[in-house]
Amino acid sequence: MKVSIVGAGPAGLYLGILLKKADPGHEIRVMERNPPDATFGWGVVFSGETLGQLREADLETYVVITDTFARWDAVDVGYQGRLLRSRGHAFSAIARRQLLAILQRRCEELGVKLEFGVEIDDPATVSGDLVVAADGVNSVFRRHYADVLGSVVEPQGCKYVWFGTDLVFDAFRFIFRETTDGLFQVHAYPFDEHASTFIVECPEPTWRRSGLDAMSERESIAFCEGLFADDLDGHRLLSNRSIWLDFLRVRNRSWHHRNVVLLGDAAHTAHFSIGSGTKLAMEDAIALANAFVRHTGVEAALVDYELERQPVVERVQQAADESAAYFQRVAHHANLEPMQFAFNLLTRSGRISHASLEVRDPDFVQVLDTWFDGASRAEGRQLAVAPPPLFAPLSIGGLSVPNRTVRATDRDALGAVARGGAGLVLTGLVAVTPDGRTSPDCPMLQADEDADAWTPIVDDVHGAGAPVMLRLGHAGRRGATQPRTRGVDLPLPTGAWPLLSASPRRYGPLSPEPKAMDDEDMARVRHAFTAAASRAAIAGFDALELDMAHGYLLASFLSPLTNRRDDDYGGSVGNRLRFPLEVLDDVLTVWPDDRLLGVRLTVTDWARGGLGVDDGVEIARALTNHGAQLVHVEAGQTVAEAKPEYRRGFLTALSDRVRSEARVPTLVGGYLTTPDEVNTIVGAGRADLCLLELAETGLNRQVAP
Ligand SMILES: Cc1cc2nc3c(=O)[nH]c(=O)nc-3n(C[C@H](O)[C@H](O)[C@H](O)COP(=O)(O)OP(=O)(O)OC[C@H]3O[C@@H](n4cnc5c(N)ncnc54)[C@H](O)[C@@H]3O)c2cc1C
Repeated sequence: MKVSIVGAGPAGLYLGILLKKADPGHEIRVMERNPPDATFGWGVVFSGETLGQLREADLETYVVITDTFARWDAVDVGYQGRLLRSRGHAFSAIARRQLLAILQRRCEELGVKLEFGVEIDDPATVSGDLVVAADGVNSVFRRHYADVLGSVVEPQGCKYVWFGTDLVFDAFRFIFRETTDGLFQVHAYPFDEHASTFIVECPEPTWRRSGLDAMSERESIAFCEGLFADDLDGHRLLSNRSIWLDFLRVRNRSWHHRNVVLLGDAAHTAHFSIGSGTKLAMEDAIALANAFVRHTGVEAALVDYELERQPVVERVQQAADESAAYFQRVAHHANLEPMQFAFNLLTRSGRISHASLEVRDPDFVQVLDTWFDGASRAEGRQLAVAPPPLFAPLSIGGLSVPNRTVRATDRDALGAVARGGAGLVLTGLVAVTPDGRTSPDCPMLQADEDADAWTPIVDDVHGAGAPVMLRLGHAGRRGATQPRTRGVDLPLPTGAWPLLSASPRRYGPLSPEPKAMDDEDMARVRHAFTAAASRAAIAGFDALELDMAHGYLLASFLSPLTNRRDDDYGGSVGNRLRFPLEVLDDVLTVWPDDRLLGVRLTVTDWARGGLGVDDGVEIARALTNHGAQLVHVEAGQTVAEAKPEYRRGFLTALSDRVRSEARVPTLVGGYLTTPDEVNTIVGAGRADLCLLELAETGLNRQVAP
């Protein structure tokens, strides 16, 4: 097979080696625009996981690469004048130039033809049975075939510049420096006995305010040397065409077109803050070379390669997205104590949890748990042996919760989940009026008898030692449906009642059209909310949650997708907030001051033209300013055609944003099922309470004697 590889980065060179090893009969040429010893960047780090695949693929290069590695196990977080160290992480790094030299030597040894100083401008000029686009993040091949490949390339995260320094760090060091223009951060790590990588980044507005957009390379080095003078300890920053750039996130629906295949950064990128791009590029090469061992046809091999690699890369990209988003918004975490800030940083991409960190670094976790428990107690007492964050008590708005788990269930099971150890018990939707029910079996708090019926249930929960929160709402245009057990949002065939909403827009294609609320409807619903809240107080509920989520009545005012009004209750976000705020204000007049009042809020509609997270944060802030003491973070279900992003913990990042930016305690769910998830989320300050969903388990069944 004649193989033309464009780009002599880690992906292209490693593929050349592996294909040639698999079949010395292949004719392989690698074309590279730069000279052999010129490259961008400094050292690259390989974080955590094993490089076992590289060992199996080519022992010779594996041995030389790993012999050259700088290795260390600690992560330092320099923040607010403190340096916190976490151990047990197993990092290795190598100078990029050194890595390429090793791969080039091996290519030459095996007979792979390397052509330097060859720049490909037009993909049509490259021929071969197989043409490999290993030409990096700005791939000319990807741009040429962008439509057929379904390429999406967009800037991600902050502005960054990739320096070296002659200071040799002994850990992966994150450094945060506050300036009057905003927060700057550094990712620094050693890569040989003489030097370290030193990447500086900051959000674009900070970069502009600091004047960096107008500075020369020399001036920008001087600026960064001045800003990080204490951290550099008299050492210099070194430039290798080190200019400020945007990190480009690359995704492609397909990674091949006919005999052209994308490899490494040309196919996908993963933000540098999780240190995975080089490893991913080399693993791509392994998968592609193996696919040609399994298949003789080019198309079959390329499909096989894609099927193997795409899901793996997607998972890493997901973690990288979380990490990039974290660094873009890290300034919002400036209110966190250094210990919690460091734990939040370590757990940012979801790849490290409380439990896995405890295995890596028990001391760190013990200090975190002790600090967290002490900070959670009014008396601030720090125990020598502290429970993990899940078991730390919480007091907000007069509500005292013995632990950080919340269980939501039907009325009949509330006592049982309280006895099962939940810190707080949450009811399902309780309607303020009969026309506010989701379905005929939806409980209500419309009459005094309703309150009387709730009292023994509330007493039962209290008897089990847990407080109980009532979720109070009006289903709006999602009302009059068949019970959930039959399906979601199926309209009642008979006995339906007229629906209300902000505007006359039906929820699903089968749903009836709701009536747009007029002044009289609004007054009636406001009164129904206050009357129900008074009854909830009499029934003994410890906390009240007003439902402004999932497209129900109050939520229908918040989203521009469902609120098309042209009066004072529609249009700007301030107007759309008006009715929900009026309800909140009215309820606050009757709800006891010493009991918690929260809201359940959809912070993004997951739909084009709907609420984005920035809007959600703004709304949460407005509700908080009006007296909401807890935001229960939800997403989607505003419109039936939303594109949800369901996965484990899918609400956690949203909660983190609401909590850190609107500065309000949060409750978060999103398929959380383990104590470790609660410890990680709560310990890192991403939420205060977690809604646990525990499946029935058949593990511990009674068996016949
Ligand atoms: C700031 C920063 C820090 C990073 N840190 C890390 C890290 O710590 N760990 C890690 O694993 N990854 C890191 N990465 C990512 C890593 O650099 C890339 O994922 C990796 O280099 C991808 O390898 P590649 O071979 O696909 O592409 P590249 O390494 O970009 O190689 C592409 C090659 O193609 C050549 N080329 C491009 N166009 C043409 C053309 N038209 N004709 C001929 N030749 C061409 C280029 O000159 C280049 O040599 C970092 C990236 C950045 C931006």
